[in-house]
Amino acid sequence: MELDELYQDIILDHYRHPRNYGAIPDEEVLVDEENPTCGDHIRLTASVVDGRVTHIRFDGKGCAISMASASLMSESLLNKPIGEVRSQIHAFLAVLRGEKAMDPETMEDFLPLEGVKKYPLRVKCATLGWHALESALDKVAPAR
Ligand code: ZN
Repeated sequence: MELDELYQDIILDHYRHPRNYGAIPDEEVLVDEENPTCGDHIRLTASVVDGRVTHIRFDGKGCAISMASASLMSESLLNKPIGEVRSQIHAFLAVLRGEKAMDPETMEDFLPLEGVKKYPLRVKCATLGWHALESALDKVAPAR
């Protein structure tokens, strides 16, 4: 199987079966983000316990890229130390801005999304959930 096909399959799988996805009670929603150019809408909540991101959950709806990206992100970053989660978010956003290449060792889980940077209109789709998680973490664990 070609690598591109494998990546497409991973994205479609996460779109069809998003991880850490499910309705969030309104009072638990920390962040509500929209990408009006595509119609993507993501609400997200997260918890940090003892310096680890112990809970990530999102709901909403959007295109395959927006949902798959949020799902991949939540699956990979859950239960990681908050410092590592923040640096992964910053690295991912920098890659999608075209500022650097994805490090295949530290960002292996996200390689299926690297190709999105070639499509400027889809970059906002891919980064929506990541911005939401960053904002949520700023609320539950403000950086010192
Ligand atoms: Zn989209």
